[in-house]
Amino acid sequence: MAMCPVCNSLKVVEIDCPNCSTLLKNDGKVADFMDPYSHYEDEETVKMGDGYSNTAKDQICPHLMVCQNCGYDKVIFIQEV
Ligand SMILES: [Zn+2]
Ligand SMILES: [Zn+2]
Repeated sequence: MAMCPVCNSLKVVEIDCPNCSTLLKNDGKVADFMDPYSHYEDEETVKMGDGYSNTAKDQICPHLMVCQNCGYDKVIFIQEV
């Protein structure tokens, strides 16, 4: 059964804020309040996951990344393994 390596503390996500270069904070798993596909076009999504094709499957885990310096936030998709 697939599981998210980030949720299980096997992997740390490190992304710099595009505005101020602060390391974004992993604010945890995104619940159902947000449609993950609304962030489909983000280019970092491709780097973090294995490309758009995987988001069509269900074995991804969306995480909210937040910049505590300027308030920037984005959702990234973690490929479950
Ligand atoms: Zn996760
Ligand atoms: Zn920032």
